[in-house]
Amino acid sequence: MLNFINDLKSKMNFNLNEQQQLIKKTAREFANDNLRPSVVERDEKSLFPKDEIRQMGELGFMGVMISPDYGGAGLDTISYCLALEEIAKVDASAAVIMSVNNSLVCNLIYKYGSDEQKNKYLPSLCTGKHLGAFSLSEPQSGSDASNMLTYAKKEKSNYFINGIKNWVTNGISSNIIILMCLTKKNVGHKGVSAFIIEKDFDGISTGKKEDKLGIRGSDTCEIFFNNCKVPGRNLISGEGKGFNIALDILNGGRIGIATQALGIAQESLDRSMQYSKERKQFGKKIAEFGAIQSKIAKMAIHIEASRLLIHKAASLKDLGLDFAKEAAMAKHFSSQAAMDCSSQCVQIFGGYGYMRETGVERLMRDAKITQIYEGTSEIQEMVIAKSLLKGD
Ligand SMILES: Cc1cc2nc3c(=O)[nH]c(=O)nc-3n(C[C@H](O)[C@H](O)[C@H](O)COP(=O)(O)OP(=O)(O)OC[C@H]3O[C@@H](n4cnc5c(N)ncnc54)[C@H](O)[C@@H]3O)c2cc1C
Repeated sequence: MLNFINDLKSKMNFNLNEQQQLIKKTAREFANDNLRPSVVERDEKSLFPKDEIRQMGELGFMGVMISPDYGGAGLDTISYCLALEEIAKVDASAAVIMSVNNSLVCNLIYKYGSDEQKNKYLPSLCTGKHLGAFSLSEPQSGSDASNMLTYAKKEKSNYFINGIKNWVTNGISSNIIILMCLTKKNVGHKGVSAFIIEKDFDGISTGKKEDKLGIRGSDTCEIFFNNCKVPGRNLISGEGKGFNIALDILNGGRIGIATQALGIAQESLDRSMQYSKERKQFGKKIAEFGAIQSKIAKMAIHIEASRLLIHKAASLKDLGLDFAKEAAMAKHFSSQAAMDCSSQCVQIFGGYGYMRETGVERLMRDAKITQIYEGTSEIQEMVIAKSLLKGD
């Protein structure tokens, strides 16, 4: 390990190893062959990619960083980012489904779950047989996440949960939910605990599928808990530990959402370059105009910088070092890059870009959410500034 770190210090290496190249290639081929043909229909009709997600599980994309002992692919975070970027380029909805299952559900159970919980839940989550969701937000508590009301009351060896959670990604299609709720009232974040909830426990119901601007292939909904009985063995890591677990796991989640944004930005550039070499105006390909070249160059700079920030945060995570600030920087920068690149892509397509049938306006609609969920850009700025000011 020490030799490895010394080696890294002396030679900065941006090359991918064989395994990383392989997962990138596999994900690219899967996305182009299996997601691309139906992505427009899923966006138009808000259809969840059920079969495609199951296939992604079979390929190892749903538990990339989890040990093979629990059914995972046992790869590093860079490999995860490479696969996720390829999926996000083609279908940002499939990417968020993959990101939540990997970053927020499997990683949380793997890091904080008991042996019994890992053995029971991870194999089916990693292989695409089951799907996970992560439920923290409530109608009155978004950025201020500890201001939650959902409450788990302990009676003998069970908990009885009551409350409303909202905007749960994978809320409808999931089988397992990681739920953050109070086990003690009036003590702020110290009263928050994490539970593993099976969707078919009594007392759970889901609201309607939300009608969204973008990522329309993913499902988002409210979840209602009405005296939902949960066995005590489904509490993760002990009462009162939930909020710190959520913050820690969301740091990793931000690498996933930054990568989703990167995929959208890269697809925007790829589509822009292809179109600008085909479209002619004033007797020339529009790629020959300086104004178009300037947009393409700026998009490429933002994409390269996003990828470097993401891979830096991912490699710090793989080395077991603190990466919270770097993950926040990666998400903040990449989500802005996705907004800028997708908007410039529509501009390069001109009027055709504004038409649904060209398929590039979807990139603009999908990009916006990356600035909102798993901590808004304003919250990322708070995380970065706090870390800098305390001298990290
Ligand atoms: C499509 C979608 C999917 C989602 N999926 C999930 C999920 O799977 N699980 C889950 O738990 N949640 C999920 N969320 C919720 C998401 O994480 C929240 O929307 C997000 O954290 C912001 O919370 P809010 O919407 O309540 O905004 P608010 O917190 O009300 O913020 C409103 C505005 O005020 C700003 N603001 C808030 N506080 C500050 C501050 N201190 N300083 C400066 N500005 C501030 C915000 O940045 C924002 O611009 C999802 C949301 C959406 C839209």
